Amino acid sequence: MWVEEEIAEANEEQIAKAAELIRKGEVVAFPTETVYGLGANTFDERAVRKIFSLKGRPLDNPLIVHISKKEDLPLIAVDIPEQAYKLIDSFWPGPLTIVLKKNLTVPDIVTAGLDSVAVRMPSHKVALKLIDLAGVPIAAPSANPAGKPSATKAEHIRHYFGDKVFVLEGKIKIGIESTVVDLTSPLEPLLLRPGMIEPKAIEKVIGKRLVHCTGSERPKSPGLKYQHYSPNAELIVASKEKLFSAIEKMREERLSQNIVVVVFGDQERALRVKEKFGLDTISAGRTLEEVARNLFDILITFGEKYDVIIFESVEEEGVGLGIMNRLKKAAKQIID
Ligand code: AMP
Ligand code: MG
Repeated sequence: MWVEEEIAEANEEQIAKAAELIRKGEVVAFPTETVYGLGANTFDERAVRKIFSLKGRPLDNPLIVHISKKEDLPLIAVDIPEQAYKLIDSFWPGPLTIVLKKNLTVPDIVTAGLDSVAVRMPSHKVALKLIDLAGVPIAAPSANPAGKPSATKAEHIRHYFGDKVFVLEGKIKIGIESTVVDLTSPLEPLLLRPGMIEPKAIEKVIGKRLVHCTGSERPKSPGLKYQHYSPNAELIVASKEKLFSAIEKMREERLSQNIVVVVFGDQERALRVKEKFGLDTISAGRTLEEVARNLFDILITFGEKYDVIIFESVEEEGVGLGIMNRLKKAAKQIID
């Protein structure tokens, strides 16, 4: 099993130091309940530019503005529809990002020149404290170089950015990025990115069906058109039915390469696969929640150790929708 370690949480003093850096126009990596964010003062254009250059992020891919109080929403967005308030009451603080009409005070660099803005109130204590102490909303994308798997541990940040960024320690509970819903046309709410909060739960609250726009064809969210989450190894995603034939084939074709198999299920299942094929095998988790939490850590860590990762699909239901969305974007090949 992919084991969870004990992680120390940043203390007040460290958070105060990070807040000071944010106020001075620097960039800081901070934990949220979803993944690590790379944040700067939303209203400081120069500081926000640093995020794009550190990540190598295309300037047409906007960031999410993080607030620590629901009352701060009007600082960021205008013409907020009733549905947004319903979602906020049900899911904030938490892993739900809402795209709304932008308040003109938000610099264009944050929203990539769009007239909409993505906003979220995270539930992670360290993130909330940081935003509070900084005294400004924090604009942040995930804390990874563009196109790489998102960071879910402080050590991932150091792996990616060395000592170029100040990092706050904290445990990540969810492991995949927030669900993103676009309410700029309240008559046709859109799901832009699946996450831990399921479409059904959102539909129940707003009383409307969500149109799913989570693929890369004709993207409604700029981020959708870019290559994403690619580990430093070749990732093959195989369905449960095709897993064994995929392993067999890769083992024959890639004699000189290091292959690792990642299965869904308990330790015993991983052991059986290991014994059957003689390849390193590990379980990503026994539940979809565990897989979500371990996903990026596995992609980053195994990306360094192996040439090929064969990852078993999970069902595209509930959180599985979010997991498969990431795996499919990251994969070199999907076998199902
Ligand atoms: P990240 O969390 O690193 O994936 O970055 C934020 C995500 O939110 C990206 O996929 C963006 O495309 C998306 N996003 C941010 N602002 C907007 C917006 N105004 N409209 C649509 N999508 C947005
Ligand atoms: Mg990202």
